[in-house]
Amino acid sequence: MTDATFPAGTILGYPRIGPRRELKRAVEAHWAGDLDLEGLEQVAADLRRRTRRRLAALGLGAGDSAIPDTFSFYDQVLDAAATVGALPQRFADLRAADGTIPLTAYFTAARGDRERAPLEMTKWFDTNYHYLVPEIGPETRFALSSDRFARQVAEARADGVVVRPVIVGPVTLLALAKATDAAPEGFDPLSRLDELLPVYRALLAAMRAAGAEWVQLDEPALVSESLPASPAALAEAAARAYALLGDAADRPAVLVAAGYGRLSAEAWRALAAAPIEAVALDLHRGGVPEPAPGLDGKTLVGGVIDGRNVWRGDLAAAWERLDALRALGARAVAAGTSTSLQHVPHDVADEPDLDPRLVSWLAFADQKVQQVATLATGLQVGREGIADELAAASAALADRHAAPGVRDGAVRPRAAALSPDDYSRAAAATRESAQRELGLPVLPTTTIGSFPQTGDIRRARAAAARGELTAAQYDGFLRDEIRRVIELQERLGLDVLVHGEAERNDMVQYFAENLDGFAVTRNGWVQSYGSRATRPSILWGDVSRPAPITVGWSAYAQSLTAAPVKGMLTGPVTILAWSFVRDDQPLGETADQVALALRDEIADLEAAGIRIIQVDEPALRELLPLKSADQPHYLEWSVGAFRLATAGAVPATQVHTHLCYSEFAVVIDAIAALDADVTSIEAARSRGEVIGDIRSSGFARGVGPGVYDIHSPRVPSVDEIAGLLRRAVTELPIGQVWVNPDCGLKTRGYAETVASLENLVSAARAVREEVAVRA
Ligand code: GLN
Ligand code: ZN
Repeated sequence: MTDATFPAGTILGYPRIGPRRELKRAVEAHWAGDLDLEGLEQVAADLRRRTRRRLAALGLGAGDSAIPDTFSFYDQVLDAAATVGALPQRFADLRAADGTIPLTAYFTAARGDRERAPLEMTKWFDTNYHYLVPEIGPETRFALSSDRFARQVAEARADGVVVRPVIVGPVTLLALAKATDAAPEGFDPLSRLDELLPVYRALLAAMRAAGAEWVQLDEPALVSESLPASPAALAEAAARAYALLGDAADRPAVLVAAGYGRLSAEAWRALAAAPIEAVALDLHRGGVPEPAPGLDGKTLVGGVIDGRNVWRGDLAAAWERLDALRALGARAVAAGTSTSLQHVPHDVADEPDLDPRLVSWLAFADQKVQQVATLATGLQVGREGIADELAAASAALADRHAAPGVRDGAVRPRAAALSPDDYSRAAAATRESAQRELGLPVLPTTTIGSFPQTGDIRRARAAAARGELTAAQYDGFLRDEIRRVIELQERLGLDVLVHGEAERNDMVQYFAENLDGFAVTRNGWVQSYGSRATRPSILWGDVSRPAPITVGWSAYAQSLTAAPVKGMLTGPVTILAWSFVRDDQPLGETADQVALALRDEIADLEAAGIRIIQVDEPALRELLPLKSADQPHYLEWSVGAFRLATAGAVPATQVHTHLCYSEFAVVIDAIAALDADVTSIEAARSRGEVIGDIRSSGFARGVGPGVYDIHSPRVPSVDEIAGLLRRAVTELPIGQVWVNPDCGLKTRGYAETVASLENLVSAARAVREEVAVRA
């Protein structure tokens, strides 16, 4: 082991997609066969070099391991799994002759191919980033299977930079894994820790040999209370893991990083006592922990700069927290980010359209690196040495508090005057009888909202944005599109129609663009998964609705048909979850402001003759806090905001909601509390279970468990859909069941969409007849 001292400041990770999404372009070109492996590796190496230079220019030392290497072709969890050889059996034949896992196998595990399902994808803690879920069983044979990390260390060395490789740690890798299909019932991947650790030891030795002085092992599992393993079991695993890894002679110094919240008390004690050299803590969310034995020889990296949001924030308060960390008596304290910066865009200086005043309140990744560098200087020379920077940040914060729009004189009194009545609709029975006017059959058929976003639609939107189509031309284009979608649905015989959402680039950004209090970036891309990125809007001020948003489109669609057309809105929780949200007031207050804007939109939709309104909340589950103690409060404000948005609707208006996941059981009480008349949910991965969960929960409202998986181009047959419906109507009262796909159709093509919806309508009709005959 080296006795290298840790630098005074670092970041836990940096965006890897490139300022212009260079990696996305290259990877997708490679997948399409337009860029060979060598070309792809070249783009990746260039990007890594540019990143190192950028980070050095922003103030991280090139010689002292302050610069992390968090490059990934797809996902950091897959990187770790592939490195230790933990790909499931179905990818075995893609290994090289020497058993190593080449990039082609890595991509196949991520994306699947004709014969093989990819690894499942799920949310990384409570972020919008998705990782690939490792599959580990008793049969998994761990072995060092890739030298990619080592090659990247050597590449940086050759370029004059001592990087700190960043690898998902052994406890988190296993804690996030699921059992392979071959594993016996109840198998726990964490039970394989002892066999996995020798491979991590070998990996550390390889890092050392390649020239790494420090390595960062990410262990965010140690902050979560939402994993199958308990915090105590995770802490015990960490104690065992780092006793063994720390004990190796031939290794770089080890930093264990635990972002995304407060370490459990057990895990904190385990890491403090472990024979490792440094621990990184999320002080932004977690706060300074209690003193613990074993800190005297260690460096503590105080994650005081928020890695997940875009605010410049309170640098002086960050300094205070670092100072408090020093009181714990560790060997040294360094400044850091609370998490990797992969959750924020690259550079706010790259946003020419944003108001300069707003820009002065923001910090994207590059600005956060500078903040860390400033705090590091402070640690070295004392507070006086950075007094100007701290004062400038405080001044920007004060300016933000006082700026027009941040506190809007019209919005606040309205929110303050709300009473419990504003959150409740008429009794369910009253609504049900009023909604009989809709004249819907049993097993009503509908879709989730969007129809395929064709190349034509995207091209027209881009042309309109460039000014090549006039507003009137673009409007006409969208109307034609709506007419086609309405005609198609009538021909298919669907019961509740939609306008198709052709006017929306994105279900959140569209509303952000049309509400006051939001700003939209030009280059603010953030990786969502693999090569996909989203561009979250910035919710910076009090939210209000200057004018109706969706009413014109919905009313036009309704004018074309006698069937009911569903109005389509994105709910307050999802709008918050998929934006960068102001951090100067509780989320619940912000959610209520969004809810009030939606409430007005619903009133206008009703006035325009819309009788069914869907408020999508696909993010309700994903925003659920990791700590169980925080969950009740979250559910209270999130459910409250949905109710505030919808409770103004008259009893005859049927309120729908849509949720994009099948872990129905986890939040079933909250879903029931939303008090929607109809809830459509995804059921693709576990058809039967979802229906069983609905039944056992006693959920009493309309419910549409998806019967058509829109994540794949496969067309489900009439028999298959009818089978699912038969099962639904035997387990649930028939009056409760709706027939719909899993989610919106925007990513699908028309051919498979039409074929699938034909089958969906035929299946609904067939089952209706069977039921009528029996009755
Ligand atoms: N109404 C949206 C659509 O159909 C819902 C999308 C979602 O749930 N993510 O596209
Ligand atoms: Zn969905």
